[in-house]
Amino acid sequence: MDFELTADQREIQALARELADTEIAPNASAWDRDQRFPAELFPKLAELGLMGVCVPEEHGGAGADFLSYILVLEELSRADAGVGVTVAVHTSATTLPILSFGTDEQKTRFVPPLARGEQIGAFALTESSSGSDAGSLRTRAEPDGDEWILTGDKQWITNGSVAGTFVLFARTDPATEGARGVSCFVLGDEHVRVTREEEKLGLNSSTTSDLVIEGARVGRDRLLHEEGRGFRVAMATLDGGRIGIAAQALGIAQAAFDVARSYALEREQFGRRIAGFQAIQWKLADMATEIDAARLLVYRAAWLKQQGLPHTTEGAKAKLFASEMARRQTAEAIQVLGGYGYTKEFPVERYYRDAKITEIYEGTSEIQRLVIARAILGKQLREEPVARPQGTHS
Ligand SMILES: Cc1cc2nc3c(=O)[nH]c(=O)nc-3n(C[C@H](O)[C@H](O)[C@H](O)COP(=O)(O)OP(=O)(O)OC[C@H]3O[C@@H](n4cnc5c(N)ncnc54)[C@H](O)[C@@H]3O)c2cc1C
Repeated sequence: MDFELTADQREIQALARELADTEIAPNASAWDRDQRFPAELFPKLAELGLMGVCVPEEHGGAGADFLSYILVLEELSRADAGVGVTVAVHTSATTLPILSFGTDEQKTRFVPPLARGEQIGAFALTESSSGSDAGSLRTRAEPDGDEWILTGDKQWITNGSVAGTFVLFARTDPATEGARGVSCFVLGDEHVRVTREEEKLGLNSSTTSDLVIEGARVGRDRLLHEEGRGFRVAMATLDGGRIGIAAQALGIAQAAFDVARSYALEREQFGRRIAGFQAIQWKLADMATEIDAARLLVYRAAWLKQQGLPHTTEGAKAKLFASEMARRQTAEAIQVLGGYGYTKEFPVERYYRDAKITEIYEGTSEIQRLVIARAILGKQLREEPVARPQGTHS
């Protein structure tokens, strides 16, 4: 086994860290307080290739590997988790599915503006009545000659109000309930209308919008992958996307640890630094250990994905552990800072608010456990004879 990052990976990590330290971290509290999407930041990320880190150069990206992209998300999220999710949704949930499932024409047409950061991407799956049960979505796409007409609404779409390209899911077979009647489309901002901007507990520098699609007429060339196979696009996208959210959680937890450690070495009570108290030392030791464990899970999942190996269960484990760890350890960081941790004078209360969402989006912790349990038990459960109530016939 090799636990070393390559020289290229270390270089891109350092690049992202420097940008995060100079351009993002100093502004993050203000963006959070003002609930402001920092539009001016993304051209800078684009200039450094960070809006298309793992997109091949021939499609306008930086041509780095998936683990490099995960390192970038970790660094951005360490400074501001809202910036982290903006880049994560833009890349994992919009650019990569078009690269994986698009025709050559679709890749040539839609990917370069995203990878070069000329446009921001959004992923529109969730609706007001379909969250975890995404296959029950109601937005519909009806064929009309060579075109599709899309009608419906979407809820809580990250980047919804700033995106130029949307990977959007709609039901193309009204007779089929559930996942099998769903198809995937690539839409432009001219096809959707933003109806509402969500107010949130945290992640305030990212936009989360409700959308309506009002009879948008699009050509057949905007269907991504096969008709009726959109759910496969969604699930494959979320398999990779979850590793990005796990990296986001990791970055938030690392930021909280860094603040807690420095504070513990400075703050004095009872005539000594609080880092001298075993109670505080144990908190820091537990934080460092759990962060390390999460990092190993996240990097392993990323490595599997970039090798083209199965990574569904490993990605689910990484997201489950990293997100719950981030929620626990950002709370512990507040505890280390005492009353100051609860105030806006330090960023740990923001980390705590930001961490919570990582347990919810791109599949809640309950859904991650379901994915993991299926992998552990699935085959044996399927092989088990179905118990039938007495008196029934097979
Ligand atoms: C800030 C933010 C950004 C988002 N960005 C996007 C985006 O860009 N694109 C997009 O499409 N969506 C986005 N979402 C939606 C997000 O993915 C959903 O909120 C999430 O999938 C959960 O769905 P839900 O909120 O409807 O919860 P529900 O599915 O209603 O779940 C409620 C509770 O029931 C539990 N539950 C549900 N089903 C089961 C089950 N089978 N077994 C056990 N427990 C279960 C859940 O775990 C949860 O605890 C975003 C949400 C937020 C808050």
